[in-house]
Amino acid sequence: MENIRAAIVGGGPAGLQAAISLSRAGMTPTVFEEHPSIGQPIQCGEGLSIHAFDDFSIPIEESKLWVGLHKKCKLVFPESRVTYGDIQAYMIRRDKFDQYLAKKAINLGAEIITATKVHSIQQNSEGVILNSKGEETKRIQSNLVILAEGARAKLAQSLSFAPPSPLIHGFEYKVEGEWGEELEFHFDSEKYPYGYIWIFPRKNETNIGIVTTAKERKKRLDNFLKQNNISGKILKKMGGLIPMKGPIPNLYRDNVLVVGDTAGMVNPIFYGGIRMGMTSGEIAGRIGAKFLTSKEENQSYSLSNYQSEILNFKFMDEINLKCHNFFYSRSNKFLSKLGKILNNQYINRISGREKIKVLSNLLMEPGLLRHPKGLFQIYKGFKIARDWGF
Ligand SMILES: Cc1cc2nc3c(=O)[nH]c(=O)nc-3n(C[C@H](O)[C@H](O)[C@H](O)COP(=O)(O)OP(=O)(O)OC[C@H]3O[C@@H](n4cnc5c(N)ncnc54)[C@H](O)[C@@H]3O)c2cc1C
Repeated sequence: MENIRAAIVGGGPAGLQAAISLSRAGMTPTVFEEHPSIGQPIQCGEGLSIHAFDDFSIPIEESKLWVGLHKKCKLVFPESRVTYGDIQAYMIRRDKFDQYLAKKAINLGAEIITATKVHSIQQNSEGVILNSKGEETKRIQSNLVILAEGARAKLAQSLSFAPPSPLIHGFEYKVEGEWGEELEFHFDSEKYPYGYIWIFPRKNETNIGIVTTAKERKKRLDNFLKQNNISGKILKKMGGLIPMKGPIPNLYRDNVLVVGDTAGMVNPIFYGGIRMGMTSGEIAGRIGAKFLTSKEENQSYSLSNYQSEILNFKFMDEINLKCHNFFYSRSNKFLSKLGKILNNQYINRISGREKIKVLSNLLMEPGLLRHPKGLFQIYKGFKIARDWGF
């Protein structure tokens, strides 16, 4: 049996950032990725907040990582009520982005083994045994394991971690041509329950997708394209599963940490997870390195520090889930009224006279005023989503 210090299962943004963080601390981790190439297949709308580039010192001049920057988003509610928001989001090339992280991890000393699936793991007194199958079948003993296996979280569940459930389906077309100027989010609780349709214009193409608990997602997306006269050639189709209700309660166990989608680190309002996944990977790597060093020095440093550190982040706040529960259980009538009181304004720029206007609009809508707590949850939840990058 092979012995290693640290294993990471999954070569997505969360696992790769964990590899970067562990390697920076001199731990030379091994990443196992079941697909033959990092970053493929792409299952993503490819929108990422500019803050993620700052947080992880990703050079913006690395222009091959992104195709455009959006500074404005448009939220469309039923009856075409519209409001705007200031955001700064890059349209990334998700394959190139993940490959950039992989290269950075390798340069710092990590090993990345592709086309190798970890099919089972067991904890023992030394750490964790991983059984993998790639070119050859291997049994590996590792002192620390970081599970970054995405939303299905099969290995994590085999160790009794809570599943990041329920999962919601996302489905997207890459359409030829630039349809629209800003990022658009279309909400309709009857057509797209618990989700929305997104339009993310890129250079000469647009990612248009749907996320919803409803069945017949393709049909609903096709109808949207038809109704909005979007007739560009469909260049690609893709889909995937997304954790819907935010982080799971327990993020560590003995020698194991969970990060990214496996830990439910996805915003429960807009369902974006790249930045949170990378943040959890970064912290897990740093705490994991301290854990390994203390073990080698016969001291004890608990992985519980990962959980306590990450709980300080706004994306872990339970207000996000409260916002999800309230916002997504509203009728179209409510959503339309919400759009009406915001009335073409920038929600994040409402101040002074505009604030008075919005409040007087609100006074005219007793249906909304009956839910002061819910309105507060929407305000807070959307603010965190904007700051964190949907
Ligand atoms: C349709 C769709 C659109 C989205 N759009 C956006 C968006 O625009 N912006 C945003 O921020 N987020 C978006 N997300 C969410 C985002 O893609 C995820 O939150 C993010 O990829 C999570 O990163 P991760 O590293 O945790 O998991 P993943 O990216 O899923 O990576 C997990 C990796 O683990 C590998 N793996 C799994 N099991 C094993 C195993 N047993 N052995 C070896 N390897 C294994 C998988 O092959 C995969 O490469 C979208 C998701 C979907 C489905």
